[in-house]
Amino acid sequence: MTTASENKGSKKTLLNEWETPDFLMAQQRLMKVARIMKLDDNVVEPLKHPKRSLSVIIPARMDDGTVSTFIGYRVHHDLALGPGKGGIRYHQEVTLGEVTAMAMLMTWKCALMNLPFGGAHGGIRLNPFIHSQSELERITRRYASEIIDVIGPDMDIAGPDLNTNEQTMAWIMDTYSVNKGYTIPSIVTGKPKSIGGSLSQYEATGYGVAMCTKHIVKHLDFKSKAPTVVVQGLGSVGSEVASILDKAGFTIVGVSDIDGGLYNKSGLDIKKVNEYVAKKGSMHGYPDASSVTNEELLELECDILAPCAIANQIHKGNAAKLRCKIVVEGANAPTTPEAEDILESRGITLVPDILANAAGVTVGYFEWVQGLIRLLWTESEVYDKLDQLVEKSCQRVFESATTHKSTLRTAAMRLALERVMEARRLRGLYP
Ligand code: NAD
Repeated sequence: MTTASENKGSKKTLLNEWETPDFLMAQQRLMKVARIMKLDDNVVEPLKHPKRSLSVIIPARMDDGTVSTFIGYRVHHDLALGPGKGGIRYHQEVTLGEVTAMAMLMTWKCALMNLPFGGAHGGIRLNPFIHSQSELERITRRYASEIIDVIGPDMDIAGPDLNTNEQTMAWIMDTYSVNKGYTIPSIVTGKPKSIGGSLSQYEATGYGVAMCTKHIVKHLDFKSKAPTVVVQGLGSVGSEVASILDKAGFTIVGVSDIDGGLYNKSGLDIKKVNEYVAKKGSMHGYPDASSVTNEELLELECDILAPCAIANQIHKGNAAKLRCKIVVEGANAPTTPEAEDILESRGITLVPDILANAAGVTVGYFEWVQGLIRLLWTESEVYDKLDQLVEKSCQRVFESATTHKSTLRTAAMRLALERVMEARRLRGLYP
């Protein structure tokens, strides 16, 4: 296939609009595994690009009567395994490339977890913190109606992501249902429990990250009884991870948020830290710990580093300075490909995002199924099913890494790619 960037007739290099640094890094991760697996270009080429990407303009009335216009995206990466599944992100720097990279990541995550979904993702370029709830509602509803032709319970199911939540999902479900004329809960996951939601996606994601941490510690036969942990980003996911591991006997020595972090060599009382943050709005001034910057936090001596904030936090500039034994990627794409090579050469084990934080989409799958069959499972049924799937996926990845003498990322990507490629092969190329 000839891409726009290789177009022979063009004098200057034309980049596809989604070819931003985030997307190119996602492609790099795919190409690295494709080379190791010696995959044919005919097979890999279509997977290097999104199947379809939609940009929409969203005019919305502000509370003062003026109209503001935003840009929104919805991208389908690959749909060989089923309808698209992926989050919706609100951020002032969202680009088509970032959304496309996330959609590709969702393809691998769903395939690795054996879910019947392809990869999708969406977002709106806006700063959600400067808008009122009523403005956000109008923007969300208009966005949902602009992308209505490419979403649906059998086509593409949305979920929350950065700066979107249960309320956002409820507005999308309502907008879609009103347009179709009847209630369709399975158009979104991560909605409130009272309208068909399941276990909260944040709880599930943090729970899964903590589970993967316990599995890797067991797999590596860690001698320490209370391994030390540093969590970057004490948000929805990070605070669950820290609390669960704290209760499980791990020693949480460092935590942070966007403004900086805390360090205590003997261990932080996570319950107290969470209470302090809830009361004061920040970690600043917390007693019983010293303050560290986010840069310093990542370089603290610990057994496990769990980046649970944003992308590209571990990069070629700091990878050589990390003093952990394991990195568990709670966030999506927190480690750049260059940094990953440095960590590998230093013998640091990395549990990749597509395994570590996949419990969120797995619970989304459970919610989708419950909505389709109109049957609600209990919370303990959901946890039981989640435990089984996460444990099985960890075992498959660890086994594949041992068999092929590869990193856990390569093992996870290999399993995901094999499943996607098999589906594509069996379905054949139309026409
Ligand atoms: P969140 O907004 O609740 O929390 C993010 C945390 O990171 C906050 O504590 C914030 O202060 C901190 N942070 C933000 N920018 C930072 C920076 N530059 N440096 C250091 N810390 C910073 O978000 P979340 O829902 O917990 O998601 C966190 C990560 O997990 C994201 O990468 C997201 O894509 C990924 N993820 C989330 C889910 C989910 O269900 N929420 C599922 C899978 C993956």
